[in-house]
Amino acid sequence: MESSTKKVYLERADATGNVVVTELIAGESLIVRVAETWFHPQGGGQKSDRGTIGPARVLHVAHNGGMVDHFVDSLAGLSVGGTYGFAVDSAWRTLNSVYHSSGHLIAGVLESLQHGLTAVAGHQWPGEARVEFEGPAEASGFDGLATELSTRLRELLSKSIEVKVTGDPYSSREIQIGDFPPIPCGGTHVRALSEISVIRVLSIKRKGNRVRVAYDALPP
Ligand SMILES: [Zn+2]
Repeated sequence: MESSTKKVYLERADATGNVVVTELIAGESLIVRVAETWFHPQGGGQKSDRGTIGPARVLHVAHNGGMVDHFVDSLAGLSVGGTYGFAVDSAWRTLNSVYHSSGHLIAGVLESLQHGLTAVAGHQWPGEARVEFEGPAEASGFDGLATELSTRLRELLSKSIEVKVTGDPYSSREIQIGDFPPIPCGGTHVRALSEISVIRVLSIKRKGNRVRVAYDALPP
């Protein structure tokens, strides 16, 4: 029995291929474990992938220590040691990658605008996405800031800017958008900003000692 699942999604974006089932758990939830997974588990601010493994629908994917648990609708037709075709829901993956890259871009742009804000957290779930910053309290000026941020985002999306994955994918993985500083990250991303059609800044609000930027984003 292996003590960890190899997280191949960290270095490859294949949406289809084969997996070898190493464990089937029929408890309160039905869980499939595989030797190597192409499914992004929920975490790091990004929603879980979904899709299929053999005849089973993958409804949710979660980290469990070093293992990755694939929550499925049924274990019927699967057996330990068997090799099965998988498919990651690529439209859902693309949407979550667009949201994740957009969050990193908002962090990079807002930090570069020299308002003393530092990105400290991201939550890139479609429909409730936000990036949180810490920095000096400012009584007002967020209206102007939203306009400035939106303008800069629009300019950047209109250019051909690469989103690079650097470092060792399994130990020192970082994401770098253009010339913005690289950020440690285990999530999935677009390959270039041209794969994001629009980022809308919905609001910029102070919440306690943090400044929260809410946004939504669309693939082309
Ligand atoms: Zn990230």
